[in-house]
Amino acid sequence: LIGKPDIVLPRLRSIIFVHGCFWHRHKGCRKATSPKTRVKFWNEKFDRNVRRDAAVRRTLKRDGWRLLTVWQCELANKPRLLSKLARFLESGNRAKEN
Ligand SMILES: [Zn+2]
Repeated sequence: LIGKPDIVLPRLRSIIFVHGCFWHRHKGCRKATSPKTRVKFWNEKFDRNVRRDAAVRRTLKRDGWRLLTVWQCELANKPRLLSKLARFLESGNRAKEN
């Protein structure tokens, strides 16, 4: 699959990405810092990453996959992470039944 998803659940037609906040530019996240040197280099690199992620998402959605992104910073709060995963998986099960 394009984008090399971290977790693929074929029966639920669902994909989970675990994204590093820095590389994938988690919006509003304090881990998504911008280096103070070689600013142009980093900005271009980040732009490429964000554009690639968006293209991957578009393609996978078009092919009928359900997508969930788990951010690196969310791994720290296990209860919240588990409820996010549970919601995603439950709605995937409902979608399958309908
Ligand atoms: Zn984050």
